[in-house]
Amino acid sequence: MVPTDDSYYANSDIAILKGLGTTYTSSFYKKGIFTFFDLLLDFPFRFLDQTKITKIADIRPDGGFYFIDAHIAAVQNVLTRRVKMLKMMLQDDTGKIEAVFFNLYPNQIKAYTRGRRLLAFGPVKYNEYNGMVNFTQPTVTFLEEGDEVQPQERMTPVYHAVEKVPQAAIRKAVNGVLQSLHSIPLPELLPSKHNPFKLSLSEALDLCHYPYPPAQPNEKIIPEKTQSFKRISYEELIAYQLTLLSVRRKNEQHNALAIDKAQKDIDAFISSLPFELTGAQTRSYKEVQEDLSSQKPMLRLLHGDVGSGKTMVAVLAAIQVAKSGNQCVVLAPTELLAQQHYQKFSALLDPCGIRCELITSSIKGAKRKKLLEEIESGEVQVIIGTHSVYQEEVHYHKLILAIIDEQHRFGIDQRIALLKKAPADITMHQLVMTATPIPRTLQLALFSDLDVSTLDELPKGRKPIITAVMPDTRKGEVIKRLDEVCHQGTQVYWVCPNIEENEDETESVKTTFRELKKALPDLKIGLLHGQLATSEKNKVMKAFLEKEYDILVATTIIEVGVDVPNASIIVIEGAQRLGLAQLHQLRGRVGRGALDSYCILIYKSSEIEANDIAMQRLSIMRSTTDGFKIATEDLKLRGPGEVLGSKQTGFDIFRVVDVNRDFELIDIARNAALDIIHNDTETSRALITRWFPKFKV
Ligand code: ADP
Ligand code: MG
Repeated sequence: MVPTDDSYYANSDIAILKGLGTTYTSSFYKKGIFTFFDLLLDFPFRFLDQTKITKIADIRPDGGFYFIDAHIAAVQNVLTRRVKMLKMMLQDDTGKIEAVFFNLYPNQIKAYTRGRRLLAFGPVKYNEYNGMVNFTQPTVTFLEEGDEVQPQERMTPVYHAVEKVPQAAIRKAVNGVLQSLHSIPLPELLPSKHNPFKLSLSEALDLCHYPYPPAQPNEKIIPEKTQSFKRISYEELIAYQLTLLSVRRKNEQHNALAIDKAQKDIDAFISSLPFELTGAQTRSYKEVQEDLSSQKPMLRLLHGDVGSGKTMVAVLAAIQVAKSGNQCVVLAPTELLAQQHYQKFSALLDPCGIRCELITSSIKGAKRKKLLEEIESGEVQVIIGTHSVYQEEVHYHKLILAIIDEQHRFGIDQRIALLKKAPADITMHQLVMTATPIPRTLQLALFSDLDVSTLDELPKGRKPIITAVMPDTRKGEVIKRLDEVCHQGTQVYWVCPNIEENEDETESVKTTFRELKKALPDLKIGLLHGQLATSEKNKVMKAFLEKEYDILVATTIIEVGVDVPNASIIVIEGAQRLGLAQLHQLRGRVGRGALDSYCILIYKSSEIEANDIAMQRLSIMRSTTDGFKIATEDLKLRGPGEVLGSKQTGFDIFRVVDVNRDFELIDIARNAALDIIHNDTETSRALITRWFPKFKV
């Protein structure tokens, strides 16, 4: 029986392909390619044109690849101490051309005899040394005199390296699966009115691997720019929109719990604060408070620049929930941040008689067991943590609100896992917070229709941060200046991302740590990096907060949310490597107290040119501290992927799509998805299952 769904491709293990032994198979596994479908989506990155035989007289030394049918007119073996080269003259009925081969084995050399006929395929270049035009290392197939030559009809794919697997074997494997598309087709799921590309998925896949030659000879085919590739991206984008839409539908199937506004408690809490809420905080909280008191599930994005006081809005929401006898969760992307949230929340909530607890993977044994019991019984009302909060083993008493910090770091499946923790037949309210300002159009396209509250006002008394940009040659001056200011009581962050390509972040931070210790022997210097145990990280952070260190040397792990008001200088080394969003986040670590603050961006002069995009980024950083402005500039410079940091975000769930590259497809994909979900539930389900199988529908 021929299956009518995707199961054959989704479930067949590549191990069953002819010619793939266990070694090759495990190399594919290592690359994350397990099934036939995985293999189909492993696209070539360039192509060889073996579709026509060129006459030698027509060859141009343009670096392009040529395919010729010729005889060996002369061979010369060049053997010196420095080169081992086989030179030969190839000839057809129109002319002659030289070909050179390096490092051949003796028995390969023996095969090249005068008069032999061969097919050669390779790049043809003009050789400046001898003024000759030649083939360099062409691939050769020997022919007999009477052989008919069949040029390929399509281009030949070249795949990204798979450990130990030769190109020919990769081609054979992919080909095997492409062939089976004829007998067992992948169901065509896109309704034709939503398929502007007029290609079925099977056709598009076939053409992605084996495109027809381009109209202009030696014109490059860029795989991602072909219609067939876009056709596939587009389908994945539709499927993504469908998952978002169906999450929302599910959300709307049940009511949320409408809770009391707890106005008295809220007022009492606000008046106990040592500062006044900003107008934006008050307005945003009112919006949240209103949502929580309604049965319609809240799905709200709280948007605000670094330091705008998002945490306070979240704390107020937590008070409202706890006072109603229910629970809320605060989900943070890193342990360090969860720990900090925990400290802030418990300092503020303990006096109100609300219990907060932290749950992370490093809380173990009896302590974990007790914590889990207290969460289940409802003794703990505010639960703060990393991905631990939605693990199977955690049972909640009445979890009605999820506060998700830096939500762009979480994928849709993680959000769904968390939402499942709501009481039966109740939908959780969701408040998602982000310090990455996102333009409205992108929000709509990528996060479905969230309601939005914006903190567009910084707390009073904040002084602007002064930013300086300088080359690494001036590092000595910076260190000298730090010596002075640290003796006056200022604390400093010194951030070093990996400076060299492939260099380990931890190594570079340790080197800097030693350098600074040597240069500044009277100062106390701390070290923070990702390889430290969590307890160790917390100890270091706490010591810095308590002024036991003058300088904290750290990797970019301090990027998100860390709050030390007395630290008023941040030095960022290797700044040319970081994106605007990340630089902005890092800079936001200072300027949190009443002191004048400085951000010193040090770039590696050898890595930067005056008109480099990196230099533009650094000058934007110097000219503004407004996160929304920075995001807009970033969008212009690098496209939405950079703004959203799509590498580290939930968007790496895409298999084909690149939000940056395929941006213009998002809108039409969204419209198609809206139509499909309303009119064709079956198709909607099948598309989701094909592209996001983890998301059970
Ligand atoms: P972010 O929006 O970056 O998460 P936080 O919530 O961490 O900002 O707040 C940054 C700092 O500002 C914290 O130390 C917080 O206590 C303080 N803060 C928050 N709101 C106010 C306010 N209205 N006035 C003064 N300081 C505030
Ligand atoms: Mg924060």
